[in-house]
Amino acid sequence: MDSKLYNEIQESFTNYLTEKKLRKTEERYAILEGVCAFTGHFDIVMLHNKIKEARYYVSKSTVYNTLEVLLDAGIVVSHQTSSQSVQYELKKYAEMHSHLFCTKCGSIREIKNAHIKGFLNAIKVPRFTPDFYSLYIYGTCSKCKNKIQREKKQIK
Ligand SMILES: [Zn+2]
Ligand SMILES: [Zn+2]
Repeated sequence: MDSKLYNEIQESFTNYLTEKKLRKTEERYAILEGVCAFTGHFDIVMLHNKIKEARYYVSKSTVYNTLEVLLDAGIVVSHQTSSQSVQYELKKYAEMHSHLFCTKCGSIREIKNAHIKGFLNAIKVPRFTPDFYSLYIYGTCSKCKNKIQREKKQIK
């Protein structure tokens, strides 16, 4: 991430914490830094590990609580990928791609398609102000498709 975008995100986080009268703790900023180190989706375990890699100790519950704050601040968005699994990503990034979701294994791939983006931006909805979008295309990933084909062959 370039430093301009990082400063922008950090500033909006500071403004949010000030507005909500929440404490500007070192932990919260360390977690924000961890979030910004990802260029795509991540889950809570991945984020926790990333912060540990930076040799900073925060508990998993602090990571979870701060993610809730970041969601509320509109800095991070979440994707419920299955009943037990949630993935997160920076809202700034979520707006730049669409998602291919494999219904067999729950994996998510990101695709950038200018046509989709242009189309969605052109939609005018009455009595509604769009903030951001997140598009999902559900299907089967190539890994799962190959697996299914191999299993079919074995049955024959
Ligand atoms: Zn995404
Ligand atoms: Zn799959």
